[in-house]
Amino acid sequence: MRKSVPRSRNVQKLTELLLCVQQDQITGKLKYEDFCSPCTKENVLDNVKPKFDRIARNGLIRGWQRLALHNGVVLQAMRDPFRQTQCLSALLNGGSCESSEAGALKPARPGSSPKIIRADFTPATLLADGKTVQDEPGWGPDRWHENYPMAKGDKQSPIEINSKDVRHDASLAPWHASYDPGAAKTILNNGRTCRVVFDDTFDRSVLRGGPLTGAYRLRQLHLHWGSSDDHGSEHVIDGVKYAAELHMVHWNPKHGNFAGALKQPDGVAVVGILLKVGKTPKPEMKRILEEIDNIKTKGKEAPFQHFDPSILFPKSRDYWTYHGSFTTPPCEECITWILLREPIEVSSDQMAKLRSLSKNGENEPVNPLVDNWRPPQPVKGRIVRASFK
Ligand SMILES: [Zn+2]
Repeated sequence: MRKSVPRSRNVQKLTELLLCVQQDQITGKLKYEDFCSPCTKENVLDNVKPKFDRIARNGLIRGWQRLALHNGVVLQAMRDPFRQTQCLSALLNGGSCESSEAGALKPARPGSSPKIIRADFTPATLLADGKTVQDEPGWGPDRWHENYPMAKGDKQSPIEINSKDVRHDASLAPWHASYDPGAAKTILNNGRTCRVVFDDTFDRSVLRGGPLTGAYRLRQLHLHWGSSDDHGSEHVIDGVKYAAELHMVHWNPKHGNFAGALKQPDGVAVVGILLKVGKTPKPEMKRILEEIDNIKTKGKEAPFQHFDPSILFPKSRDYWTYHGSFTTPPCEECITWILLREPIEVSSDQMAKLRSLSKNGENEPVNPLVDNWRPPQPVKGRIVRASFK
C-alpha cells in the first residue's frame, strides 16, 4: 500500500505533519500512526482523537485516513483519499479547498499553507508542483495496483459477461428495493464521477432479496460514462459496451458501518444499470441531469432532496450476479453485483450533458470528465449466475 514514487518524480519535501488512522477490522477501535516530529505527537493525538472517534461513529473511517494538521489543528478528515489529496494539493499551492464530504478544509490562518511531511505512502503522493500521482498522464487503471495491490486481486470488477458462460440459477430470488425519497441528500462532482448521496444512518432506503441475505442500506449512486456514445459502461455484455453505467451502492449494516462493510465479502451490494442511447430516453434521468449545471466543477455539491432512485430501474428485474469489487481504487472485493439485464434509455443530449462536467476545480481550466470507466478484469474462474433463462 505504501509504495513510494520514483525519486525522479521530484517528490516535494514537505515539513510538518500527516497522520494516519486505521480502524481495527475486528474491534472497530482506532489505531493512530503519525509522521510528525516526536515533540508534537502527544498534542496532536489529544487533539484529533475525539474528532476521529466522532467520525468513526458516523461510519466514515475507511482504512487509512490522512489528516492535514496545522499547528496541531485538524484541517480536515475525509473518507475519499483522492478528494483529500486534491484538497491538500490546493492548500499547498496556497489556495483553499471546499470539502464535499466532511466540512470545509481551510488553512488555520488566512494565507498560511499547511506543511505536510511524508506524503509518499499512498497513491496520493504529492509531487513538486502540488499535483498528485493520479493527476499525472498515464496513471490509469492499468497502474492502480502499484499503489493498490488489491486491484490485481482474484475478484475484480467489472467483467465481461458472456451469455454462453452464464449459469441460470432457478434458486435466485427476485430482489426488491424500498427507498425513502426523503433519504436523498446531495449531488456532487468529486472530479471522478457525479454522485448522489443518501442518508444511511438507519434502515431507511434498503435493498433486499436476490442473492442477498438481509437488508442492505442505500448509500450513494454514481455513474460511469465515455467520451462518446459507443462506450462508457464498465460491464461489457457479449462484447457490447453501453454508453454509461449507473451504480447504486448499498452496504450491509450487520458490519456496523460502511468502513466495516468494505472489509467483508458480503459487505456491499451494487445494483448496476446499463444506459443505452436510444429514441425513448427515460424521463426519470432528467432530475439528475438538471442538476449537472450546479456541479460543473470538481468539489461542487448541491442539495438533492426528495428523490426516489427506484424510478431509474428498467421494467424487467432480471439480473446477473457475481462476486466482485469496487471499480475504483482501492478496489475492495466486497461486492455482490446485481447487474440488470435490461438497459435503460438515455438520449445523446443527456450523455453530452454528463460530459460537460469538469474534472478540474472552479478556477482551473475545464477538463472534461469523461471515460471514468474501468475496463473488464479477469474473471479468474468466477461463475456469473443469471436469474433468468
Ligand atoms: Zn461505480
